[in-house]
Amino acid sequence: FNRQIADLPVTIFTVMSALARQHDAINLGQGFPDQEGPQDMIRLAADALLDGQNQYAPLTGLPELRSAIAEANLRFQGITVQADSEVVVTSGATEALAASLMALIEPGDEVVLMEPLYDTYLPVVRQLGGIPRIVRLQAPDWALPRQELAQAFSARTKAIILNSPMNPTGKVFTAEELAFIASLVQQHDTFAICDEVYEHLVFNTPHISLMSLPGLRNRCVRIGSAGKSFSLTGWKVGYVTAPAPLATVIAKAHQNLVFATPPNLQRAVAFGLRKDTDYFTTLAQDMATQGTILASGLQRLGFDVLPYQGSYFVMVDITPLANGLDDVAFTRLLTEQARVTAIPASAFYDANPPRNLIRFAFCKRAEVLIEALNRMEAWK
Ligand code: PMP
Ligand code: GLN
Repeated sequence: FNRQIADLPVTIFTVMSALARQHDAINLGQGFPDQEGPQDMIRLAADALLDGQNQYAPLTGLPELRSAIAEANLRFQGITVQADSEVVVTSGATEALAASLMALIEPGDEVVLMEPLYDTYLPVVRQLGGIPRIVRLQAPDWALPRQELAQAFSARTKAIILNSPMNPTGKVFTAEELAFIASLVQQHDTFAICDEVYEHLVFNTPHISLMSLPGLRNRCVRIGSAGKSFSLTGWKVGYVTAPAPLATVIAKAHQNLVFATPPNLQRAVAFGLRKDTDYFTTLAQDMATQGTILASGLQRLGFDVLPYQGSYFVMVDITPLANGLDDVAFTRLLTEQARVTAIPASAFYDANPPRNLIRFAFCKRAEVLIEALNRMEAWK
């Protein structure tokens, strides 16, 4: 076996979702919505199967979806994109991330990452022989530690991975922070892999793509996910926007990972990306409401709720309620006894993680969130 892969732990999302099922707990761990995405998209995908969309799609994606992705770049971020040469459709943002890293990283290349981080980044960087340079953002406000970030860059830096809105913190990087990151990327002549799967899930805060900043257009890979933008996480349709020479290499990585993504789903996502702006605003408003229900309830229960501006997630400090238990023991107990599941945030760190933080997902119906809060109130 490949030791590096064989020795990876099973992802925390699988572990906690299994534990939730075992104890019939409300799963506020793994981030997936409990409401169906748009019915018109689902019907379109089903009709497309009956309409003969059942053979391999073009490798880089259906032309209609690539055009829709290019249009969305212009509509939401003011970025002009060539649909035929600068867009690659992937099987989820997970594949987009892996393909982008494969396209860029050679053994010995350094990659700058920010902790806490989404759990697929580090294993892929390491499997490619990349050397992670990790900069830690600190609770409660997750402000960018500028000096440390600057020091993490070197002549060997190939790329930075930037996740905004950020999982698990819910942080949305400010214009000033993005400008600072942009200056480092330019100064060190590197690339930025921008994981923007939560681009439409921001609450009273604008989401700014690094790619839209002056001088960054040809240094960024911008990654989106239909799973998050349309509450269809099971579809696993993602997309990459990158300057043409890099997109060509990403497509070559994609050809050996997946080759092509299901055409019926692509047709439906093309339709979805062309929805009017109301759809995207309502998605964010509904998610903001759910976030407020959960966050205010957790605060009333006695948790220290950390600020968030986007995503599906809120982080809390468990110290007031944990009786000295660490995050892993506490989330286990919460699942077994209160029958509510969260994710221990130590899973989002490489080494020496904080042990007092856990992540709750609020992409659930209000009644489900309220039932979860009631269960925790009865238990604590
Ligand atoms: N990046 C982040 C930050 C995520 O939270 C997720 C999914 N939860 C992904 C990437 C993967 O997205 P997809 O399901 O489209 O592969
Ligand atoms: N991104 C989701 C989360 O953070 C989980 C995705 C997965 O299970 N792979 O909860």
